[in-house]
This record gives sequence, structure tokens and C-alpha cells, in this order.
Amino acid sequence: MPKGIPSATVSRLVTYLRVLTDLESEGVGRTSSDHLASEANVSAFQVRKDLAYFGSFGTRGSGYTVGTLKRELRRILGLTRQWNVIIVGMGRLGQALAAYPQLDHYDFKLVAGVDVDAAKVGSSIGGLAVYHLEELGALLAEQPVDIAFLAVPVEAAQAAADALVEAGVPGILNFAPKVVSVPPHVTVESVDFLAGLKRLAYFLHTPALDDGTLTG
Ligand code: NAD
Repeated sequence: MPKGIPSATVSRLVTYLRVLTDLESEGVGRTSSDHLASEANVSAFQVRKDLAYFGSFGTRGSGYTVGTLKRELRRILGLTRQWNVIIVGMGRLGQALAAYPQLDHYDFKLVAGVDVDAAKVGSSIGGLAVYHLEELGALLAEQPVDIAFLAVPVEAAQAAADALVEAGVPGILNFAPKVVSVPPHVTVESVDFLAGLKRLAYFLHTPALDDGTLTG
């Protein structure tokens, strides 16, 4: 992915890919920026601008070939290889994530769980062997780990993130409602359920000020 691509563009590429995947499963062979735009709730200009960062994919007047654009977006997003994932914090959320049925389908392979609870370490939860946080180094020596789902209590989040950085995990999907600090070579994406809920409360509370779309 070229440097300097806006993060909102990356989010929209993920949405375009989902739309293309749906179209392909419906047997649709061609699509247009108008159609992608309406499915992604953006303008056709925005779709063309987002795609133009990466090259020229369509034909003026006849749109895009669904299969080709899907393949290109998968390549751009780095979804053409397997990503090894561990779940740090095998509590309620960690166990729900372990049970999520479609991760393999997206080439995200769950390889292990990590916890500090003696009752969980050494066991198998949701088909995942659970290691102690202190065993992270040994775990990464056995196999590469690209991404950690951070699903520990908020007060343990920074220390667990530090351990992941120390062990060499380059990507963290942080579910704890807390900003974790990491060095620049590590990337953190946050899934902040409480922040989403508070935004929703705001929009429900002040409907007159909003057009009803909860995007952006
Ligand atoms: P939980 O208490 O059920 O599970 C937390 C797990 O983390 C436990 O197994 C605990 O032993 C383990 N843990 C504690 N410290 C650790 C450490 N340093 N390293 C590794 N493991 C450690 O909590 P939960 O409900 O699963 O929530 C986990 C996180 O996800 C919290 O930050 C929570 O705010 C957030 N979250 C939870 C939900 C939800 O629906 N449960 C939804 C959104 C966000």
C-alpha cells in the first residue's frame, strides 16, 4: 500500500471489497462506480478517487469487472496471504472471537490464545491452546504471529500491549476501551464498542442536528 493513503480510503476499500464479494456470489460480472457508491453510502466521485490512488481499474462507460476489481482490492489490502492471529485475553470476548466462524475464510488464522489465569493457561479453549503471557517469546519462536486481538481488562491493556511489542507482534486489534501506546513500527487498530455506543446515544439524543447517517 503506498504511503499517505488516507485511513478513511482504506476503510472504504474494505467496504468496496465486501460489496464486490456479495456481487460475485450473486453471479454479477460487472459493476459501476455508481453502484459501488450507493452500496458504500458515498459518492461515485469518491469511489473513483479512492481507486485512483492505486491505478486505473475500470473502463470509462462500462465500469469494472467484478472479479478483477475484487482481486486487485484483495492485493492492495494485503489479503492475498495468511495472517496468523493470537487472542490475548481468553475471557468472554476472547472466547467469542475464538468462536467466530468466518475468520479462516478471510485468511486470518487463529493460532493460539494467551492469558494469565492459571485455570486457562495450558488448556484448550475454542480449539486454541492457551499460553501464558510470559510465554509469548517462545510462542513467536515457534511460528510467526502477525496480529494480536487484545481482549484483556482495560487496566491490563498497556502492559499486555508492551509484552506484544517486546515479543515482536507487529499488529494489534485493540478491543479494550483505552488508547495503548506503541512504537511507530507497530500498528494498532481500535474496536471501541463503548465509543460507538456513545456516538449512537449522541445521534439519538440530537436527531434534528443530524441527517441520520452514522458514518465517518
Ligand atoms: P473478561 O474479564 O471476561 O476476560 C478478560 C480475560 O483477560 C481474562 O481471561 C483474564 O484472565 C485475561 N487477562 C487479564 N490480564 C491479562 C494479561 N495481562 N494478559 C493476558 N490476559 C489477561 O473480560 P471481557 O468481557 O472479555 O472484556 C475484555 C476486554 O474487551 C475489556 O477491555 C472490555 O472492556 C472489552 N470489551 C468487552 C466486550 C464484551 O462484550 N465482553 C465488548 C467490547 C469490549
